[in-house]
Amino acid sequence: MNVADTERAATGLRNAGYELTASAEAADVVLFNTCSVRERAEQKVFTRIGEVRHQAQHSGKRGKPLIGVMGCVAQLEGDAIFQNTPAVDLIIGTRATDRIPSLIERARGGEADVIDLGERQEGEFWEVSPAERRSPYVAFVPIIEGCNKFCSFCIVPYSRGREKSRSALEIVAEVQRLRSFGYKEVHLIGQNVNSYRPLSPEGLERYAGATAFSRLLRAVADTGMQRIKFTTSFPRDFHPDIVAALEECPNLCDWIHLPVQSGSNRILKAMRRGHSTDDYLRRVDAIRGSKRRLSLTSDIIVGFPGESEDDFEDTMRLVRACEYDGLFIFKYSKRTGTPAAMLADAVPEGEKTARFLALEELQSSLQNKIYNDYTGRTVSVLVERESARSSEDMTGHSTCHKVVNFRSQQTAPGEIVDVLISQAKPYSLYGELMSGRAA
Ligand code: SF4
Repeated sequence: MNVADTERAATGLRNAGYELTASAEAADVVLFNTCSVRERAEQKVFTRIGEVRHQAQHSGKRGKPLIGVMGCVAQLEGDAIFQNTPAVDLIIGTRATDRIPSLIERARGGEADVIDLGERQEGEFWEVSPAERRSPYVAFVPIIEGCNKFCSFCIVPYSRGREKSRSALEIVAEVQRLRSFGYKEVHLIGQNVNSYRPLSPEGLERYAGATAFSRLLRAVADTGMQRIKFTTSFPRDFHPDIVAALEECPNLCDWIHLPVQSGSNRILKAMRRGHSTDDYLRRVDAIRGSKRRLSLTSDIIVGFPGESEDDFEDTMRLVRACEYDGLFIFKYSKRTGTPAAMLADAVPEGEKTARFLALEELQSSLQNKIYNDYTGRTVSVLVERESARSSEDMTGHSTCHKVVNFRSQQTAPGEIVDVLISQAKPYSLYGELMSGRAA
């Protein structure tokens, strides 16, 4: 979401006549797009602001750069930032991205401490110019922002506000345009994509489906975009019709990210996740029962306050049952401003680390087996760049979102090729380019 926000801010600034510089030292305006999911990321921003201010003072450049903070830290801390970090001139909340040019103008006009923590306005422009996108082949397309779920450990509902879905007409038109510009893959993104609920069904009329999201998937697939991925899915809102849509439309990629966070019902309740392990496993059964082999990944937090040995064993059991293709494991860290930060019964740091390592070991043994099963199979890969390890190899992602490296044989970034997997590594696959290239 932060990458998408940066691209969107850059689009608005370029339209207003600004140019992007390659370095902060050369800039007249420096904007920090911030993340507050982890407290450490937040602290790093203020260190970096100090560095930029210091460099500017010693660079000999006339006039100080205007410094702005945008994103989640701006939204949460608000004008306290002006008091704690006087170098900051501008605070831009998470829903003020489109108003950045006018906020900068106010600050340049001499107004002190310019701040906008307001809501988005009707008719705002979500689309990003291709010139500002990170990749000419893969594009992020936000479909929903904000979150109404209020998991007890998470700051996002406070920093990003309530869920707001973008119109299907607009999303489909953007994907069509991306296709005409030569993009090969889109990622439909949002904190919870499957909670998608647009104000009107406009743009979805021709598409059947049990939920607005599964109808949107069919509508986006109908654009003919070659590869469509989506992330993140929230378990409670995961309807089996999503699996049906994936079976009907081959250009919907075979990868689902479905964070569970814990395998213990007691801890899931304390996390206020709104689902039990049984609810979750029913969704996994629907995914595993699909006619397509769907890759499944998840997130887990270990060491949530009050997590006992037994709770952790439940998590280990769930991970064994789900056989994830990939798992992002986090040690719980207290986030000020969330309900969980008030909970007593913290798990000692050493215990958290031990659980993290035990879960990591289990996952890596399960994952090895899954990756080994790919040997001898052919996967479709979108070539992204030369491999960092060897100039003779290229790297990209499969439709099932695995990193695949292969001997290049003059393939170019942006091509979609078939690769026969010959070797499984812990977090990637290695193979040979098939003679007949894919489209
Ligand atoms: S669903 Fe829960 S974890 Fe995900 S963004 Fe919302 S509150 Fe945070």
